[in-house]
Amino acid sequence: TVRTRIAPSPTGDPHVGTAYIALFNLCFARAHGGQFILRIEDTDRARSTPESEQAILDSLRWLGLDWDEGPDVGGEYGPYRQSERMELYGEYAWDLVKAGRAFVCYRTPEELETLRESRREAGLATALKPADLALPAEEVDRRKSANMPYVIRMHVPDEAGSCRVDDLLRGAIDLDWSMVDAQILLKSDGMPTYHLANVVDDHLMGITHVIRGEEWINSAPKHQLLYDYFGWDMPVLCHLPLLRNPDKSKLSKRKNPTSIQYYERMGFLPEALLNYLGRMGWSMPDEREKFALADMLKHFDIQRVSLGGPIFDVEKLRWLNGLWLREDLDQDELARRLMDWAFNASMLQQVLPHAQKRMEVLSDFAPLCAFLVSGTLPLRGEAFDALGTEREQQVRRLQFALWHLEALRHWDRDAVWQSMQGLAKAMDLKVKDFLAPLFIAISGSSASFSVVDAMAILGPDMSRARVRHAIE
Ligand code: ATP
Ligand code: GLU
Repeated sequence: TVRTRIAPSPTGDPHVGTAYIALFNLCFARAHGGQFILRIEDTDRARSTPESEQAILDSLRWLGLDWDEGPDVGGEYGPYRQSERMELYGEYAWDLVKAGRAFVCYRTPEELETLRESRREAGLATALKPADLALPAEEVDRRKSANMPYVIRMHVPDEAGSCRVDDLLRGAIDLDWSMVDAQILLKSDGMPTYHLANVVDDHLMGITHVIRGEEWINSAPKHQLLYDYFGWDMPVLCHLPLLRNPDKSKLSKRKNPTSIQYYERMGFLPEALLNYLGRMGWSMPDEREKFALADMLKHFDIQRVSLGGPIFDVEKLRWLNGLWLREDLDQDELARRLMDWAFNASMLQQVLPHAQKRMEVLSDFAPLCAFLVSGTLPLRGEAFDALGTEREQQVRRLQFALWHLEALRHWDRDAVWQSMQGLAKAMDLKVKDFLAPLFIAISGSSASFSVVDAMAILGPDMSRARVRHAIE
């Protein structure tokens, strides 16, 4: 039976790209009467967080994407979190060493840099091959007895010509062997890399079709080699085109909101977002633009995916959302959605501590908090003028704030505060003066509560979108 999977790494906000790939995996599995699995790839212990994992699960569920097996629902092939399968990967890596398919490498980072540099100077591809990495036997012994750190790397061919991999949508793809390096499989701390863990788990979990973003095409030769070394059948590969900004560049949070949570907070309906993601490179046989997940499941054929980069255009999504909102929700349902969205318990819990202090009558609530249930704010120039600093100075502060906010990995009140405080100090400004334009960008006026609290509530993508809007 067909088994597909989505394998997100919980290292940030849940990406619309992840939902898009998940949707196509789900449809493919259902179209073939198979199963769809969710696996968490959290081998990068420094960057993975439980909050990010939870946000990914919540966002995919909010969209209505259901998996048959996963960390939260269990299944026969568990555990479904790679951090809970760690012993496994080491064993497989050592099996390959014993079989002569992988090798222990004691090279230091400095040596690797020198090796790469000399290849660059000689105009060669920088992919390091096993022969480049070899050390004399006595040097290996010396490093071994000195307990120096080592990694396990895979053997790769050192030859001219190319490796051929098959792709369900693209047919045969030829990739130059010279680009394929002696990939690390097990790091010096004993942790597996993505490549090893991904191949081992796809095999052990019985995955038959790997449907993922085209950014992974270049990894396919390594994966193909690993399947071959292990003597396992390789799943069918299918690389979907990446989502793009309207300017055709890869969709990225520096230009567009990419977090599913942003779209939820903006008040998009999950069925409309799912519908839009289904239109990314795919169409219904009758080309209609508006369709539900059930329709898509019924008519799904992966061969209808077109490879031209699909454009994720928020304006188009708004239009489609409007159709859903007007045509598919009766007034009772709209009322229910609105209540859930604007006045749900978790939202009120976050907002009321700030609002209550500043309220005398209930009607004070709306002006205080309207900015929290708005999208992009209609910013009035006067609000900025009233600050008494020059526009140029304000834009400079906002731009610096934006760069720092883009770099923040973990988003909460303290992290935002520390980042902004550090920046104010570096710019030799009082925090209050530095934050003044940010306050207006985020809340639309100066009559609100702490901008740092507001950003914590609004979340990263909405906060950044507003700052960007204020600079434009
Ligand atoms: P950004 O460029 O916004 O920083 P990123 O590439 O760093 O994005 P990641 O956090 O690496 O984003 O990706 C998270 C998940 O989203 C990955 O599974 C990745 O495959 C997917 N993804 C990222 N960008 C796209 C895209 N343009 N189209 C489809 N999927 C994407
Ligand atoms: N963990 C990888 C990611 O975050 C999975 C890639 C794959 O599907 O093989 O995108």
